[in-house]
Amino acid sequence: MVNEEMKKLGNVRSVIREIFEYCKVRKAEIGKDNVFDFSIGNPSVPAPAIVNETIADLAANYDSIELHGYTSAQGDARVRGVISKYISDNFGAEVPANNIYMTCGAAAGLTISMKALCLPGDEVMAFAPFFPEYKVFSANCGAVLVPVKSDDKLLPDMADFESKITDKTRIVVVNSPNNPSGVVYPESTIKAIASVLEKKQKEYGHPVYILCDEPYRELVYDKATKVPYVMNYYDNTLVCYSWSKSLSIPGDRIGYVAVNPKAADSADVYAAICGAGRSLGFVCAPSMMQFVVEKCIGHVSDLSVYKTNRDLLYGSLTEYGFDCVYPDGAFYLFVKAPDGDSKKFFETAKKHEVLFVPADSFAAPGYVRIAYCVTTEQIKRCLPAFKEIAKEYGLIK
Ligand code: PLP
Repeated sequence: MVNEEMKKLGNVRSVIREIFEYCKVRKAEIGKDNVFDFSIGNPSVPAPAIVNETIADLAANYDSIELHGYTSAQGDARVRGVISKYISDNFGAEVPANNIYMTCGAAAGLTISMKALCLPGDEVMAFAPFFPEYKVFSANCGAVLVPVKSDDKLLPDMADFESKITDKTRIVVVNSPNNPSGVVYPESTIKAIASVLEKKQKEYGHPVYILCDEPYRELVYDKATKVPYVMNYYDNTLVCYSWSKSLSIPGDRIGYVAVNPKAADSADVYAAICGAGRSLGFVCAPSMMQFVVEKCIGHVSDLSVYKTNRDLLYGSLTEYGFDCVYPDGAFYLFVKAPDGDSKKFFETAKKHEVLFVPADSFAAPGYVRIAYCVTTEQIKRCLPAFKEIAKEYGLIK
């Protein structure tokens, strides 16, 4: 006998992984250059040189026992101190080292935070479109994921948001820059979310926490685009950060949860974060990677390739008549299926060996997600195929 729910999760891959695996098989069949794989958010830009230099330096010069040994369960105190200073210097928020918990990426941070804050039956809200794993993470602690609609700019529909908050709402997830839409929430949206929550907290007499999911914080491409630091607008905020995308190290699994000291019951919240980390087996994030981020914090991979790709793909697809959401950040282009049928759009593109992801599981039926974290060469080579697809849909002649 096994846990049937877990068996189901293990047997049924996410749509993204399903298409990613299909691409692998197809590449083996017809050659990797003949398949246009836009399925997964794996950074295509190498980590900045300082990452490998730091690893080499640590391996050569750092105390080997300490480098490969356990740190404190919540992470090395010195590393957390460096992160605390970075948050203060860059975002103007004061988060002591003892409010920071090192994690295996944002995924562990999210699941730990949900476990720490929710009781079975509680509600976790997420603004559509959203990362499908939120549903899995909230189910893990018995909470229910409540999707909130978006408006025509794919920003939260504030009326729908307000109407869906209940006495059971514990968490509102804010993911900006957003996967899958690439949309960055402006300050006005953050202020509007904060103001609704302030009102609702008073009404229900208990805190509702914003959980910021921020693996794409640095991935914005225009100088004018600012990513507001939510703690500065709303006290009851936790941040789940990850270096997966900013340093192109998703396989190294390193990130953190930061609990705002101004949050209601912040000491208890942090204790519950430590407890949830313990309960889930997420203690002592990889030690060597903690020491790597201590040295590399503030560095970012060369983002110019993503910007070039975004401009080329967005420019070309809109020229061919596709309806695309302009992505201010992350490395995803969100496109409307020309006749509203995302699965048919996927199948049509597949015939041209163009593989992207229907966005139904992101709570955005009718859209597809194109992960443009690929080489610019791939973008250039796939454009004739997109042109053909546009012709099939009668968007161009
Ligand atoms: N949240 C979002 C929105 C993501 O897109 C991802 C990964 O793609 C994650 C969380 C998980 O990131 P990590 O690799 O840091 O666990």
